Amino acid sequence: LHDKFEAEYALPPITLDGERVSLLLNAGLDLSTESLTSKYCDGVGLYRTEAWFMQKGRFPSQSEQEQWYREVLTRYHPEPVVMRTLDIGGDKVLDYFDIKEENPFLGWRGIRVSLDHPELFLDQLKAMIKANAGLGNLRIMLPMVSHTEEVDDSLALLEQAYFELQEEWADQFLLIDKPEIGVMLEVPSSVFLLPEWSKKVDFCSVGSNDLTQYLLAVDRNNAQVADLFDPYHPSVLRVLNSIAQSCQNFELPFSLCGELGGEPEGAILLVAMGYRRLSMNISSLSKVKWVLRRLHVSSMEVLLEECLAQACAKQVHRLLRNFMIEHN
Ligand code: PEP
Ligand code: MG
Repeated sequence: LHDKFEAEYALPPITLDGERVSLLLNAGLDLSTESLTSKYCDGVGLYRTEAWFMQKGRFPSQSEQEQWYREVLTRYHPEPVVMRTLDIGGDKVLDYFDIKEENPFLGWRGIRVSLDHPELFLDQLKAMIKANAGLGNLRIMLPMVSHTEEVDDSLALLEQAYFELQEEWADQFLLIDKPEIGVMLEVPSSVFLLPEWSKKVDFCSVGSNDLTQYLLAVDRNNAQVADLFDPYHPSVLRVLNSIAQSCQNFELPFSLCGELGGEPEGAILLVAMGYRRLSMNISSLSKVKWVLRRLHVSSMEVLLEECLAQACAKQVHRLLRNFMIEHN
């Protein structure tokens, strides 16, 4: 089975009826394998910057960060790299930055930490903008956004970082761009603010891992309730579908970068909903390509309709299982 998928590695992800789906990489964790695949994907849809911060043992300086980001941007150039700003808290801890909370997943996480420490946030934003000079493939993404003020405050800090850099570099004739900025949709409140946020940001990407966790109130890392953590729960599917519809209505480019996009069944349902950009772990790339290249979008849409009409996840899984058997 493995070989069958591997043979697809270098082929383009196009469905039988000619729909090209962009498959991107979730990166930041394992650099040794990531470099091998850069030519077989459409860029990086999620670069988890916190992974490097975790390894480093201390906060890296602005110039260390710049060097690191430039290496990453260069590796995938000219394909886009969506770099997520520091997403610590919850399950992601820095040994050198103590966060003690009763409910870490509902606490000081992601953008909340960055906005409470603008000096760290500005350092990271400046390092990213500088690393992008002369390349232009950087996109910046904000994690765990739940309030409109967080979007506004982040945009203001990006503006400040850009302005200060222009001043600093005024006599160096270096060309710096203000990169596109997007938000992750991983807290349920964000989904209902798309009409407003679509006017403020350039793109969004669904973090289906956290979105599932927060919609179903199930800790994504708790084995005791692992059975209940199910992205195929009809409520999650309906929310994902509604995100695709809102983004299309408000003309906001959208993608998904949670684990669901790397599962063949998940990718099928997402493509049927209208997602054309899926970001996944390296190990999922060839499997998802294999499946998409053997199906018509029209048959995926029939399956989606049936799944969306179910009231429980068990029925959705039954439909998916039958579909996969039917289509080999
Ligand atoms: C997500 O929540 O779906 C996501 C992609 O981010 P992370 O898994 O890093 O929290
Ligand atoms: Mg997340």
